[in-house]
Amino acid sequence: MRAVPFRKTLAGAGGLLLQVMRSALFRPSCRLCGCDLVCSEERVICRDCRKKIGPAAENQCQVCGKFIPDGMAACGSCLLDPPPFERHRSYAAYEGTLREAIILYKFGEIEPLKYMLADLYRETVARELPGAYDAVVPVPSDRSRHRGFQPLPAAGKVLARRLGIPFRPGLLVKKKSTPPQVGLTQAQRRTNLDGAFALGPGAKAAGLRVLLIDDVTTTGTTIRKCAAILKKGGVRVTALTLGQARL
Ligand SMILES: [Zn+2]
Ligand SMILES: [Zn+2]
Repeated sequence: MRAVPFRKTLAGAGGLLLQVMRSALFRPSCRLCGCDLVCSEERVICRDCRKKIGPAAENQCQVCGKFIPDGMAACGSCLLDPPPFERHRSYAAYEGTLREAIILYKFGEIEPLKYMLADLYRETVARELPGAYDAVVPVPSDRSRHRGFQPLPAAGKVLARRLGIPFRPGLLVKKKSTPPQVGLTQAQRRTNLDGAFALGPGAKAAGLRVLLIDDVTTTGTTIRKCAAILKKGGVRVTALTLGQARL
């Protein structure tokens, strides 16, 4: 056995000490409640915060998933103006810990949260939208033209991998930049997105069954606009979002 030079031993001990000090000083903490993350499966947020995120329990429109009073099967807009998608479901209401986690992911750019959010999408598919799909397609955003962190495509890619189907962001593109839907009236929301989306160049879409995903839905206008373009291209659309804002 070769003797380890004293200087090397010291350096090794010093490195270890530094590691211990670093982990004591920079112990990862939950980004939502601030408690220490102690379990190996905890990433970014703690187990207790994760447990607070649960599926919607309210009565929902059988078609578009909007929360409606008990005893009703479909909402007024689905009855009067049937949507271009087959069904739409959200994981839960856009409030509480789910809302905080989505904001943290999107605006805090905490990329590892994509795995947890992809799990929520997948749970919703298993529970509410069983069936066979050919691809996951994200609602295109103005940001998706830019480089850097793209929250929806990042989570969509993980979801597609977990479902074992292709992720095809190129199937649907945004042709022009539009002001955010938030803060617009319902009528403005509809016209704001006129001509904004199109099938991607060379997209062989006809006959596909796709899961169209977005993070949050409010009036459902964006999903309807995107689904209409895809449907015109011969696609059968099922829509899937994480949070549903209460109107
Ligand atoms: Zn927490
Ligand atoms: Zn409806």
